[in-house]
Amino acid sequence: MSPVAGDVRVDYRLRSRSAAGVGELGDLAVESAQAIARTGLLFEHPGSRDYDPRGQIAEHPDTPERIDAIDGALAAVDWLGWERRVAPMATRAELEAVHDADLVNMIEQLVAGGGGLIDADTHVDAAGYRAARHASGAACAMVRALMAGEAQIAFAALRPSGHHAERSRAMGFCLFNNIAVAAQLAIDQLGVRRVFILDWDVHHGNGTAEIFRRRDDVLYASIHQANTYPHSGPLRDAGSGEGLGYTINLPVPAGSDGERWVSLLEHVVIPAATAFRPELVLISAGYDAHRADPLGGCQLESSDFARMARHVRDLSRRTHAPIGAVLEGGYDPPALAESVIATMRALSEDDAAESIAPDLIYTRQAASYVGHHWELQSARSST
Ligand SMILES: [Zn+2]
Repeated sequence: MSPVAGDVRVDYRLRSRSAAGVGELGDLAVESAQAIARTGLLFEHPGSRDYDPRGQIAEHPDTPERIDAIDGALAAVDWLGWERRVAPMATRAELEAVHDADLVNMIEQLVAGGGGLIDADTHVDAAGYRAARHASGAACAMVRALMAGEAQIAFAALRPSGHHAERSRAMGFCLFNNIAVAAQLAIDQLGVRRVFILDWDVHHGNGTAEIFRRRDDVLYASIHQANTYPHSGPLRDAGSGEGLGYTINLPVPAGSDGERWVSLLEHVVIPAATAFRPELVLISAGYDAHRADPLGGCQLESSDFARMARHVRDLSRRTHAPIGAVLEGGYDPPALAESVIATMRALSEDDAAESIAPDLIYTRQAASYVGHHWELQSARSST
């Protein structure tokens, strides 16, 4: 974090506390404000460990062991001092603010019949449905807590993930689009005018992109591997109608490493998001771009997720927008757990975000395209 951004953040907390009637503030209050800025909320639910699709789909990668690994690794570091909260279930009304009622009805009918396949990769039974309702509910509870000022950073570590679920279609392990449900709730009920969603899962978040593609109140930016599932998200797709420019798709070839991902984030995504002036920042935090992942073909290390998180954290502090991360993919449990902790640590600490030179091919090409819609000034020079 730069000294300037740090001063701005503390000052902001002090102002908001004074407005709440705390009164004159001394050194103690400054320390307390800094502690609030660095202590996060972690949302969990035991239902995430109860659902195992391998009973229906052999060798399915979305296993309870993913959550076990995260939980075990976090326990070993005392949850980094974050406050743990049990996630509620999303209500039908919260789901139907984004999804067609027919989708929810179809899933409930499948569950009532004992469960079944939605597509070749996507299965639901009673445990899966319960887990999915809590995964969406966690994202909702997270944005409520963030916008109430209970924390500046939060992580919802539940499964199944959500970013492939479209308005009327469940797919790709996803029943409901957890992050979209939360973003919509923030706009409808919490007075948030602009939500920035960064999706760093190795797969394109076709569901989130579809739900918000005609909207200018949600900026959706995805870095993802090209020519893999779900085969959407080309650079030329920038949204449509009033949402033109508010979708940023940055596909990268298989084999891309952290340098390429961080370069795209630093030089394309963050400057556009800075110009957008978000009031809430959400991360579709998938970890299947990790080099150990059995599904993804990219080469990121756990530390690369921390590098990206630091850039997002600095954006959040500059714009006074809290950050909520929602777990998406990541199918090598040890790499997943290590990367989740790296992300949480980076969000809560003050290590400076590293600035790197733009990737000569992909970043420049992406910047020239996204630059049609956004003035891509360096985030540092604009503060
Ligand atoms: Zn994925």
